[in-house]
Amino acid sequence: MLAELRGLNEECGVFGIWGHEDAAQISYYGLHALQHRGQEGAGIVTKDSKGLHVHKGEGLVNEVFSGDEINSLTGNAAIGQVRYSSENGRGIENVQPLVFRSTTGSLSVAHNGNIVNAAELREHLERQGSIFQTNSDTEVLAHLIKRSNGTPRQRDRVKKALSMLRGAFAFVILTEDGLLIAQDPNGLRPLSLGKMGDAWVVASETCAFDIIGAQSVRSVEPGELIIINDQGLHSERFAPAADSAMCSMEYVYFARPDSDIDGINIHSARKRCGKRLAREVQIEADVVTGVPDSSISAAIGFSEESGIPYELGLIKSRYVGRTFIQPSQELREQGVKMKLSPVRQVVNGKRVVMVDDSIVRGTTSKRIVKMLKEAGATEVHVVIASPPLVSPCFYGVDISTDSELIATNRSIEEIRELIEADSLTFLSPEGMLESIGRPDKTKNCGQCLACFTGDYPTEIYADTVMPHEKETVR
Ligand code: AMP
Ligand code: SF4
Repeated sequence: MLAELRGLNEECGVFGIWGHEDAAQISYYGLHALQHRGQEGAGIVTKDSKGLHVHKGEGLVNEVFSGDEINSLTGNAAIGQVRYSSENGRGIENVQPLVFRSTTGSLSVAHNGNIVNAAELREHLERQGSIFQTNSDTEVLAHLIKRSNGTPRQRDRVKKALSMLRGAFAFVILTEDGLLIAQDPNGLRPLSLGKMGDAWVVASETCAFDIIGAQSVRSVEPGELIIINDQGLHSERFAPAADSAMCSMEYVYFARPDSDIDGINIHSARKRCGKRLAREVQIEADVVTGVPDSSISAAIGFSEESGIPYELGLIKSRYVGRTFIQPSQELREQGVKMKLSPVRQVVNGKRVVMVDDSIVRGTTSKRIVKMLKEAGATEVHVVIASPPLVSPCFYGVDISTDSELIATNRSIEEIRELIEADSLTFLSPEGMLESIGRPDKTKNCGQCLACFTGDYPTEIYADTVMPHEKETVR
């Protein structure tokens, strides 16, 4: 039994390109489009005939590449990452892509997700003499690849290493001979393949393709290893596909509205969730407003279906980072205050429906209800375009510990009282699945619902180490 189920802090965005002379510049734009997936570190590694070249640092993409660094990254292939990390996962040594140089060939790796058996594998590798430089799971893969040096073909070594990992992982790996792309057997994190002229591109989200003028080709399949080199693209499996379990929170909160995941547009999915909510609850109100930015699509859907006009009731400052990046509860609360302001003229004297995409700790909802009432709203009805979050995520998404989640062990009425709303409604799990509308006939329409149900699609190890706890593993 896990003493305290911890949530994760490793949401990331990855990008890769093979076969373009401006590989570094294109990666820069691709990472910029993925910036919402992580704001604490960014890096790009390129490959030319001399080997691998790297530049990375802490901060936003345009801060890390603020000077001439991009021009020093020569070569026609690249991988990159934008990273979100907790306090303990910070530090330049953890910023990816990681580069491993060796006489048998250099290797660079970037990763999105969380490997649930990383601690076990790391201990095993350390007993065999591996010395780790970082706290990151990503390094485990590199050591596993090196360990299987007896296997002559590199792709077989990578396959063997990948087959030992459990959990959520979307990898981009750049070697001196090729770009390798891998997706975990459940396909928990999004990863799409695209084409830009003759070049191949890969990205966590398709919005990165739009900015560089690439066409989306398909999603990387669960358990698939794609090898791209000068001979073209070759697809293999390193594991049989398990039940597909794409992260529901990607549709609910993370992904950008202009991205498509497995052919489903995020804005449209969120709008359908909002429409469905309006059919699941009847509320007498004057205006509907959404919490910017991730809830606007659902709020528009709710308004369209209910006939209650949509209004801009809340404004978000463009210049404050996501509230979650602030480490303490106190700072988070200040962050919410700094970030959102009510539009008094819109809400004064009105019964307001406030749509948000999710409630995690309840901080945002509570503050917004208070803010709207202080601005003159006579009633505030909170509607949430996803079911209550009751369990932590072990697959790379920061939704905290189970004791911090407001909905764990509380009734809806108890939550309503805590956030001081006039009413509180969550979207039903069936409503969410049907509205997202994945055609999969597998369990939960091929979506992971673990944070809503506690039913995890993979084994969870008792010693699963979360990124923010990793310093203790060394
Ligand atoms: P909370 O204030 O703790 O209830 O957080 C809820 C707010 O955080 C909502 O407005 C969501 O848009 C946003 N949110 C949901 N999941 C996450 C996440 N994993 N990381 C950062 N923000 C999130
Ligand atoms: Fe996504 Fe929730 Fe599953 Fe984590 S537990 S992968 S946040 S759906």
